[in-house]
Amino acid sequence: KSSSNAVAPPPATRRYPTVKFRSYQSRKRILITGGTGFVGSHLTDKLMLDGHEVVVLDNQFTGRRRNVEHWIGHPNFELVHHDIVNPYLVEVDQVYHLASPASPPHYMYNPVKTIKTNTLGTINMLGLARRVKATMLLASTSEVYGDPEVHPQPETYWGHVNPIGPRSCYDEGKRVAESLMVAYHKQEKVDIRIARIFNTFGPRMHMNDGRVVSNFILQALQNKSITIYGAGNQTRSFQYVDDLVDGLIALMNSNVTIPVNLGNPEEHTISDFAVIIRDLVGSKSEIVNKPKQTDDPQQRKPDITRAGELLGWKPKVSMKDGLKKTIEFFRKELQNEKKEIEE
Ligand code: NAD
Ligand code: UDP
Repeated sequence: KSSSNAVAPPPATRRYPTVKFRSYQSRKRILITGGTGFVGSHLTDKLMLDGHEVVVLDNQFTGRRRNVEHWIGHPNFELVHHDIVNPYLVEVDQVYHLASPASPPHYMYNPVKTIKTNTLGTINMLGLARRVKATMLLASTSEVYGDPEVHPQPETYWGHVNPIGPRSCYDEGKRVAESLMVAYHKQEKVDIRIARIFNTFGPRMHMNDGRVVSNFILQALQNKSITIYGAGNQTRSFQYVDDLVDGLIALMNSNVTIPVNLGNPEEHTISDFAVIIRDLVGSKSEIVNKPKQTDDPQQRKPDITRAGELLGWKPKVSMKDGLKKTIEFFRKELQNEKKEIEE
């Protein structure tokens, strides 16, 4: 039995979080593709609480209904099971286009599907945005910079991507998605926003996500070995999900059509990161080195000057504060899982 299959009580008995009252004129209809996933569900919460109408489109590949379950039945909310590789039409003012597997094991699981989602899926959503004259924001990624030779990475850097490596289905998929955005902007006058998102973490990451934050926390909580891929001197910079959501909304509501990095410049080696997590959890886990992953970027840190200048945005949550909240989330997930097995 999986905790993700928990069923919501019938709507009549539901109590929803209190949403802000908005006049018809100031309320927006917003489509979020990938809205039951990790980032998408936090974005859904923020926009719902702010009094907007939200339509979530998701094929539940890595998303879970229970991430948005607390809104099901609310008059401002709609959940649609749909694969964006197929066209979809809905009248909306804004599209946050997040649908795509995001963790390396998930996007490498079916590379052809990852490419289809990022190319055909993005064309379908741009077609929708063109028809209904919606503003469309693409959740792009720091992976467009590949294994970067410029550090930290500004938006002006063109990147260093292996087009035939195991990560290329995602990296090149997102690069084509960006090209599609600018082509539809230029040719079809679609109003676009491009967010280049750097490593983000927080509650609601999938237990099987496979990315470093959830792996290390789960390993530490269970006193299992913490697995570092390679020597551990590769670096990443981690941002808490609430900061990202604020940045996505600020970008959407700006008039900035050029790409904008959204990330927290607090950079750590993966070895340091393992020790930080083990200490925060208070775990006895040993730290072990596993084989290096092919084409693993060796350094990554966002230059967020542009986001500061054009959006007045910068991250507010320190990595340690964010990690503490995430550790609590996974501690509860493990307890729930244990309870379900016992029942
Ligand atoms: P996630 O895997 O939790 O969410 C992705 C969502 O997209 C899931 O709900 C999944 O079911 C859905 N999806 C995938 N393919 C689909 C399809 N064909 N049709 C409909 N829905 C589909 O990942 P996330 O971390 O929430 O990432 C969200 C977006 O942000 C992704 O586009 C990702 O590339 C981007 N991003 C995330 C990070 C990060 O660190 N979390 C970093 C850079 C970019
Ligand atoms: N990583 C690791 N152990 C794990 C998972 C990931 O050492 O259990 C490393 C991975 O090789 C990479 C970094 O952590 O160098 C970040 O990996 P993640 O999959 O989180 O994101 P991405 O590589 O896409 O930045």
